[in-house]
Amino acid sequence: MNNMNYKTRLLSINILLLGTLELFGQRSTAFSLISKPTSETSIGNFHLQEKFQKAELIYKRLVEARGDRRFNPPKFKMDSNERFAAYLESDGLSIGLEEKIYDLCMGLGEKEGEKAIAAILGHELTHFYEKHQWRTGFVNSFEGLKVADKLREGDLLYLIDCETQADYLGNFLAYSAGFEVFYDLPKFYDLLYESYKLPDTLMGYPEKEDRKKLALMTLEKTRELVEVFDVANLLTAIGNYEDARAFYKHILVQYQGREIYNNMGILTVLSALSYFSPEERKYRIPLELDLNFGSSSRQGFVSKEKIRRDLLQEAINYFDNAISMDSKYASAYLNKACAYFMLGGEDNLRRAKFYVDVEAREKIMLDSLNLSTTSHGVTILLALIAEKEGRLDHAKAMLETIKSSSAIANYNLSVMNKKVVTKVQTQNGPEDEEIEGIEHNQIISFTQNNRNKIKMQKLFGTIQLRTYKNLGELKSSKIFVYRPPSGEDSPDIYFHLSDTNYKGQTSDNFKIGTNRKAITDIYGEPRSLKVTNGEILIYEEMLFILDKNQQIKQFANYLKK
Ligand SMILES: [Zn+2]
Repeated sequence: MNNMNYKTRLLSINILLLGTLELFGQRSTAFSLISKPTSETSIGNFHLQEKFQKAELIYKRLVEARGDRRFNPPKFKMDSNERFAAYLESDGLSIGLEEKIYDLCMGLGEKEGEKAIAAILGHELTHFYEKHQWRTGFVNSFEGLKVADKLREGDLLYLIDCETQADYLGNFLAYSAGFEVFYDLPKFYDLLYESYKLPDTLMGYPEKEDRKKLALMTLEKTRELVEVFDVANLLTAIGNYEDARAFYKHILVQYQGREIYNNMGILTVLSALSYFSPEERKYRIPLELDLNFGSSSRQGFVSKEKIRRDLLQEAINYFDNAISMDSKYASAYLNKACAYFMLGGEDNLRRAKFYVDVEAREKIMLDSLNLSTTSHGVTILLALIAEKEGRLDHAKAMLETIKSSSAIANYNLSVMNKKVVTKVQTQNGPEDEEIEGIEHNQIISFTQNNRNKIKMQKLFGTIQLRTYKNLGELKSSKIFVYRPPSGEDSPDIYFHLSDTNYKGQTSDNFKIGTNRKAITDIYGEPRSLKVTNGEILIYEEMLFILDKNQQIKQFANYLKK
């Protein structure tokens, strides 16, 4: 504890010095939430250690969710200064959070506080990942030259640009890590300015009121991106992989995360699967997104082989992108091996074997505790390769070792033993549930009656995502309608999704916060989709969206028409 205090003191002196330098035009912190000309330091807080651990946990979840390990993420630190609130050092080596803003956040309550801290740290991390500190450092290195002054004149605009992007993607990062979006940010500015005793006008920042307005507009953009992400996952859950792919592509244009690439790759492999005949895909592939049901085979394509080859090649590119962000990402290696396996041919089988047996296995060794499913996947794929090579007995022996702990292994073993495999039954689950008084079969008429009150996003100019919210009965739920590009012969898809604060219950008294087990006890173990921020349980007409703690976060009715 003593040691910690000593360190804190050293840090504060450090920042004080650098802070003084900043008055002469050199920023030490490339990006800080605020900047106060004088520092008030309070030293000797015995609770700092505890707060640090809590905040660092949030920080680590954010770093993990982004999954970009091309550069070492900045070190997280906390101090008791009252100067920047939160900041990224200009060398990019550390991100700091002041105790005062931590207290301010946690003063909102446990859950709100976590959300707020996640939003603030997500913001600073985005500055780092998007390399915003680069230009500031560049301009400073031309100190004394006229060109530096010219560049600095444009600084405020550039900074606003950076800040907006950091808010936008920082919030999305927090969301993908399993935190809810902190929509109260504009109000939070008042609190921040008040408690740091700041004037409304701060050198180098927009006016406070303008910051609040900017934050509000940015949050609206975040909300749209979050909706695209949610619907992408819902579409994946109900097996509309091709549609989900367009949604993920839209996200990738703005935000590049390891798992977004990996999911995009998986969806692309799943799309390719529909170009294989049932006989060609009698085994289940251990993709790291086990949905336990394939899309149906498409008939009558002249160049089926070419389409599926192109899709699989495209998928491999996505996995490569994920791997380039994190060279230890076991799941992406396994998925890449699956894609090569499906490409077929001697060379590709050899590649599949290499990526699964050498690369994936090696990465699993580094984290064997958390990667047991991935490890089963490796065994399953190696067994499928052995079978292809004509070593059936060997393949069976491999599957035998894990059949009790892997449903996919068990399934494939039964196929190899020519046993009749009973198809995994789709669990029916609840029937005709209502959300906010709107029954399953009333969703369409509701949208028809309110057709002029929609909010619409267009993806790639052709795909419509229509959102109905805050109207009529829709107080704490939304209706999404996905409309495929015109000319495509696929149905519109409707999701009626409860908000996370919805108070209503299903007919079996399930509500927000209900445990996973309570659901599966009654309806049976359904197909499920693991997503970065939780899991989706898939029943015939209804979806349960679970959070990281396996509790209901939202639920949804859905239908295709
Ligand atoms: Zn910032």
